[in-house]
Amino acid sequence: MDFNLNEQEKMLQRMAGEFAIKLVEPRAAEIDSSGQFPFDLAKEIGERGYQGLPYPAEYGGSEAGYTSYTLVLEQICQASMTVGAIMAINTVPEEAIFRFGNEEQKKTFLAPLVQGELLGSIAFTEAETGSDPEAIATIARKSGDGYVISGQKHFVALAPAADLALVFTRREGKGLNAFIIDTSSSGYNVREPCETMGLRGLGTSVVYLDDLYVPQQNLLGEEGQGFGILLEAITLGRLGVAVEGVAVAQAALELSIDYAKQRKALGKPLARLPTIQWHLAEMASRIEAGRWLTYRAAFLRDQGLDIKYESSVAKLFASQMTVEVTRMAMQVHGSYGTMKTMPIERLYRDAKMTEIYVGISEMQRNIIANYLI
Ligand SMILES: Cc1cc2nc3c(=O)[nH]c(=O)nc-3n(C[C@H](O)[C@H](O)[C@H](O)COP(=O)(O)OP(=O)(O)OC[C@H]3O[C@@H](n4cnc5c(N)ncnc54)[C@H](O)[C@@H]3O)c2cc1C
Repeated sequence: MDFNLNEQEKMLQRMAGEFAIKLVEPRAAEIDSSGQFPFDLAKEIGERGYQGLPYPAEYGGSEAGYTSYTLVLEQICQASMTVGAIMAINTVPEEAIFRFGNEEQKKTFLAPLVQGELLGSIAFTEAETGSDPEAIATIARKSGDGYVISGQKHFVALAPAADLALVFTRREGKGLNAFIIDTSSSGYNVREPCETMGLRGLGTSVVYLDDLYVPQQNLLGEEGQGFGILLEAITLGRLGVAVEGVAVAQAALELSIDYAKQRKALGKPLARLPTIQWHLAEMASRIEAGRWLTYRAAFLRDQGLDIKYESSVAKLFASQMTVEVTRMAMQVHGSYGTMKTMPIERLYRDAKMTEIYVGISEMQRNIIANYLI
C-alpha cells in the first residue's frame, strides 16, 4: 500500500491546478449564470491531453493512468464542477470504446476522443427511465447493412458540443445494444435544453433520434451486450462523480476558512468560535475520507482491477459527503452564503447533483449490497 503520489502525478496535479486557477475559476460564475456551454474550455482540456491520461500511446494517450486522471479532474472540478464534468463525461464513451471496441473503432473514434479532436457524450436516460434498463424504449431495428434507431433521450450532457454519442437502445430481441453515433447524422436532433439546478452550462439536453440510420460497424461490442458495456463504462463515470464531490467539498471548505477568518462575531473572527471550528473540522475530516476512497478506486483501476464496487462506494460516500459539507459551508457563511454573488451558493447546488446523476444513490446502495450479499 503506497499513499504517496509519484513525481509525474505531482507534476500533473500542479499543472492542472494552475490551469484551473488561471483559466477555469474566473469563468465558473459566468458559466453557471449564463448556462452556456464553455466550448473553448472543453477544447483546451482536450489540447492539454487531459482526455487521454489513462489511455495507451497507440491511440494518442499518455498512459499516465486513472490516478493521474483523478488528480487532474479534482483540480478542474474545484474551480468549476461543470468544466470538470465535461472531462469526466467524455471519459465514459472513451472507456466503453477502449474496453469493447474493435481495432477499427478504436482508431476511428477512440483516438480522436483521446487526443481532444472529438468530444463524446452518453445517452442512456429517457423520459420514463434513468435507472432501469428494462424500461428503455428507444429501439434499434435491423435494416440492410445496419440499424434504424427511433426514440428520445433525455438529460444528454454535452449535447450541443458532442461529435459522437454512445447511445443505448433496446434490441428487437432481448437485451440492449450500444452504438457509437456520429451526431451530425441525419435523424440526430438536439432539442430543448434541460434547465437544471446545478451543473449549469453542461449542455444537458433532450435528443430526438428520428429514424436514424447507423451502419453495422458502429455497433459497439456484440448484439445484446449493451448492458454490460454500460455497467463497465459507467464505472468510470461514477469515479468521476466521486471526484466532483470531493472537489466541490474542498472548494466549500477553503471558502469557509477564508470567510471565518475575516468575518467577525462578538468582536472576534468567526474562526475563533468553537461551533465554527467544529464545522470546519467536520468538513475536513469527511473530505479526507471521501478523497482517499476515490483515490483508492483509481489506484485499483491502475492495477487493472474491476472497480464496480469501489466506484459505487466512492460515489455514494462522496456525494452524501459533499451535500453535507456544502450545507455546513452555507451555515458558516450565514445570509451572505445564500447570495447569488457568492460562490458557495453555486457549490451548494452543484453538490446536490452528485447524488442524482450518473446513477442515483439508491442504485449505488443496491450495487454495494449485491456485492456484500
Ligand atoms: C445534469 C445532469 C446530467 C445528466 N447527464 C446524463 C447523460 O449525459 N446521459 C444520460 O443518459 N443521463 C444523464 N443524466 C440523467 C441521470 O443520470 C438520471 O436522471 C439519473 O440516473 C436518475 O434517473 P431518473 O431521473 O430517471 O430517476 P428515477 O430512476 O426515476 O428515480 C427517481 C427516484 O426513485 C427512486 N428509485 C428509482 N429506482 C430505484 C431503485 N432501483 N431502488 C431504489 N430507489 C429507486 C430513487 O429515490 C430515485 O431518486 C443527467 C442528469 C442530470 C441532472
